[in-house]
Amino acid sequence: MTESTKAQIAVKSTDEKTTLYGLTLEELESFVKTLGEPAYRGRQLYHWLYNQRIAEIDRMSNLPAGFKRKLEESSKAGRLGIALKGLPAQDGTQKFLFELEDGLRVESVYLPDSPGDTACISSQVGCALGCNFCATGKMGLYRNLSAGEIVLQVLEIEWLAGCRLSNVVFMGMGEPLHNYDNVIRAVRLLSDADGIGLSARRLTVSTIGIVPMIERWREDNPPAKLAISLHAATDKQRLQLMPVNKAYPLEMLFKSLRRLAHVTTHTITFEYIMIADFNDRKTDAINLGKLLKNIPAKMNLIRLHPTDSEMQPSSDEAIDKFMGYLVAEGVRCTLRQSRGVDSEAACGMLFAQEPRPSN
Ligand code: SAH
Ligand code: SF4
Repeated sequence: MTESTKAQIAVKSTDEKTTLYGLTLEELESFVKTLGEPAYRGRQLYHWLYNQRIAEIDRMSNLPAGFKRKLEESSKAGRLGIALKGLPAQDGTQKFLFELEDGLRVESVYLPDSPGDTACISSQVGCALGCNFCATGKMGLYRNLSAGEIVLQVLEIEWLAGCRLSNVVFMGMGEPLHNYDNVIRAVRLLSDADGIGLSARRLTVSTIGIVPMIERWREDNPPAKLAISLHAATDKQRLQLMPVNKAYPLEMLFKSLRRLAHVTTHTITFEYIMIADFNDRKTDAINLGKLLKNIPAKMNLIRLHPTDSEMQPSSDEAIDKFMGYLVAEGVRCTLRQSRGVDSEAACGMLFAQEPRPSN
């Protein structure tokens, strides 16, 4: 049993009940054995929780009454509280503020039909990395989310929106690779064909570029795509936006990404926020072309979304021109539609107001 597995099983509330969401099939089988039940009851429980998306034990119709009673006494689903259900933006995008057991809050976003119903979920409460364009970065880090809290954001959105999600992106609050073990566990739970059943091609983990963890990602080869938040093509520019570039400068990052490109079947996506007169000039496109040479990559351009930073988004005209320069450099690129800006549900606008730890 790995350290993280032990940690997960040890996630018990003050009333010593075992939290079910976040446990793997093998762990549920072990858990039901501690209740004196055969392992196949664990498989049934897994099927109900993840495949059928049923969190209430009394609704698990093929479980015998005695087993249900034991489950009620010794476990709980671990559901998230709903602190706020945002009003849908004009494009249908809707933000949810979920309350965790300790009173802290995280945000998740539902983006209907973009294409397919998509959830943008959080991996941490806050973030330690302090990128200067990002609202979450201003909060600092409160704590990592457990795998159960990550998976439940997806299920809670399905329950609240009455939908079946087909895409999940880790682009909400937090740096997923700073919470590596729980994020990988959640990715495996989300993609298990016998469970939640999302396709690996429709699961994207976005990272600012934590090099040692990208190395682990390459070794573990989890069933998800990786997206890199690049935002600048030189160290000098990147450092002005994100302090993390000091620890992991571009040369180090791209060495690691080239190694990853050798083994992964997925295209690596690069995200690039368009900031007026900062990273939207012809020279920037030429530098990007050089950087992305020999990497099977796709560039996702994103308009800077307004936070309280001084920086301004590039104009539509500047973005158009920039895309032309990139194409001339042989870089594949698309402009990501900025969704949910009017309800502050867009990327980089996630800032859980007044996180309130209960202690
Ligand atoms: N920490 C991870 C994932 C969360 S941020 C990361 O940085 O990749 C998800 C995406 O939103 C990242 O690409 C991030 O750069 C982007 N983002 C953050 N603030 C933004 C803003 N103000 N406007 C547009 N995109 C922003
Ligand atoms: Fe953290 Fe990502 Fe925001 Fe940077 S952009 S502060 S890494 S959440």
